[in-house]
Amino acid sequence: MKHIPLRSCIVCRRQKDKSELLRIVRQPDGAVVIDATGKAAGRGAYVCKSGDCMQTAVKKRALNRAYKQPLSDEVYKELEKAYESIDAD
Ligand SMILES: [Zn+2]
Repeated sequence: MKHIPLRSCIVCRRQKDKSELLRIVRQPDGAVVIDATGKAAGRGAYVCKSGDCMQTAVKKRALNRAYKQPLSDEVYKELEKAYESIDAD
């Protein structure tokens, strides 16, 4: 039996398979980036790839809450870009 690790979305709190979530990571140096590989070291936060969660995360700056620190607009711009590219598929 294969164990599927579930992670919860920081917006809707639903637990999902990692493949359905976008991973955002705070690296050891404090920089917060979108982790396209899912393997970057650091503290991860997850947002659903589909639906409105990414948009809501950007609008409500949900990552600030997840990481308990204000993040730069750059992070949210990246998230918005990622959202648009996924939406375009
Ligand atoms: Zn979600």
